[in-house]
Amino acid sequence: MTAIAVTIAGSDSGGGAGIQADLKSFSANGVYGASVLTALTAQNTLGVTAIHDVPVEFVRAQIDAVYSDLAVTATKIGMLSQVPIIEEVADGLKRHQTGPVVLDPVMVAASGDPLLAESAVATLISKLVPLADIITPNLHEAARMLEGEVARNENDMQSQAKQLIDLGAKAVLLKGGHGDSAESADLLTTRNGESLWLREDRIATDNTHGTGCTLSSAIAAGLAKGNALGDAVSSAKAYIQETIRHADELKIGQGHGPVHH
Ligand code: PLP
Repeated sequence: MTAIAVTIAGSDSGGGAGIQADLKSFSANGVYGASVLTALTAQNTLGVTAIHDVPVEFVRAQIDAVYSDLAVTATKIGMLSQVPIIEEVADGLKRHQTGPVVLDPVMVAASGDPLLAESAVATLISKLVPLADIITPNLHEAARMLEGEVARNENDMQSQAKQLIDLGAKAVLLKGGHGDSAESADLLTTRNGESLWLREDRIATDNTHGTGCTLSSAIAAGLAKGNALGDAVSSAKAYIQETIRHADELKIGQGHGPVHH
């Protein structure tokens, strides 16, 4: 049977992040990809110039169209933009067979532009975190979810991953890529107390646009194929490392370019 993953996320017109990155990551990781668009961004490698939220009725229509027909085996959630879209997506997940759900709590673009309303973090936590099988915050997103400081070291990361589990997450991949150590260390923690550090050398490049999207989609692809969570996360980490390693070969645009799938 064909493994099918769905991304529920925003569009990046520049092709580097969002839905565009998700579909490339699904393809590269061997699964068929479908998409539900939540918001359109007018964006390039320099930044976001406009955002158009998809009306909630149309988000619902896409969800019902996709899940009522395709035998979906995993779902990835990215940019949700506003509270009503979060609520619509949460309702949609409850109506359908989604397979395991990977929630990337996207808040800000790499360019610094906001992709989620400030007031929406609480709704994301109350409505979607409990429905997710794994959440994949970076250090800044974790700090905002916990209303605390950005983790400075691995001890802080360990304690924040536990606090995110206490918020209702079944599993957390806390991504250390925004830290400043020589290694990029991510911590996978599950509710039953398992934890695994995933370590890779930090690669010096400005072209890391779309890393969060690509990684969470690669995890969803692994889960869509029936892999266990730890295996899906480990192979996704290896995949994102390769896309960052080759990012400088792409040379598109004048700003921060995307990773290379
Ligand atoms: N989703 C959309 C539509 C985006 O435009 C972006 C970043 O610009 C993101 C998600 C998050 O990107 P990243 O994978 O770099 O965290």
